[in-house]
Amino acid sequence: MVIGVADFAVNLSSVVDNCIPVYAWVYPEDRNKGFYDLALTADMLSYFIKNVGPYGYKKLANVQSKTMFGGLENANTIFYNENYITGTRYYEETFAHEVAHQWFGNMATEKSFAHLWLSEGFATYMATLYMENKYGADRARSMLIGDRDTVIDFARISDLPVVDEKTTDYMSLLNANSYQKGGWVLHMLRRQLGDSIFWRGIRNYYSIYAGKNADTHDLQMVFEKVSGKNLSVFFRQWLYSPGIPRLQVQWSYLAKEKKVSVTVKQLQENTFAFPLELQLRSESGNSQIAVVKISKQEETFSIQVKEKISSVILDPNISLLFEGKASVK
Ligand SMILES: [Zn+2]
Repeated sequence: MVIGVADFAVNLSSVVDNCIPVYAWVYPEDRNKGFYDLALTADMLSYFIKNVGPYGYKKLANVQSKTMFGGLENANTIFYNENYITGTRYYEETFAHEVAHQWFGNMATEKSFAHLWLSEGFATYMATLYMENKYGADRARSMLIGDRDTVIDFARISDLPVVDEKTTDYMSLLNANSYQKGGWVLHMLRRQLGDSIFWRGIRNYYSIYAGKNADTHDLQMVFEKVSGKNLSVFFRQWLYSPGIPRLQVQWSYLAKEKKVSVTVKQLQENTFAFPLELQLRSESGNSQIAVVKISKQEETFSIQVKEKISSVILDPNISLLFEGKASVK
């Protein structure tokens, strides 16, 4: 619980679905900027109600405040860093993250800190989905690439899994595993199961655990049920084991057979299993996509092509959390 005492200018931005008032509480000198910036949250509320489930509270108040964080998602009364009120709506993504927490973190809450990604990874990815819906796929793409770079850097210095039962310094769990890697796990679930099963899983998880507590296993059970798939390998490697795939991919064009031979080597300690998308480009500018199923430390695939291939791009649609490049054999 937090208490904020200040002189505030208060604005009723809108009333969502005729019953949820959305307010801005800002410093009087920032009233124009703050009312303008924070009015964005009404549309976020509508988006999450439509896609995830009912909002759990009677109002949403957005408060300009002192906080060491960008935002703090107190139930129905979100505190935002005072410097995030700019009059330019620059921090829209942070606003979406905090609003998403009203569903994930506040209403459906992790059973313990080891499962913090059920708050932070969800809020991170829900903000990406919101921005994708509003601004298009390119926006989500650049957010995902940025998050992936953060995870790659973090994986170099940490040997801890996302579900971290050992750490007792809870502040240190506010890290790239809980936020960006957690978000990426949801993104890979979406890519591998498809949008409609993904959203059904999200909605089912929320409807079962709103007002309750859940852990990672509970989420796995929900997604196994909606997809009809066994996801134990997926959950084990991405959430209960440390690291990400570090790939060395070498390819060559075999002119006689009109084939491309691709060798994929995993350089990290734990071997992962995942689909890898390859874009094979020819000199004339044509390209084709091939998906190879990786499950071993080293594997070679042979892919039939129509013309001479001049380059191979890994993961062209930004669907995999990994590090590495393709080079010619
Ligand atoms: Zn958060």
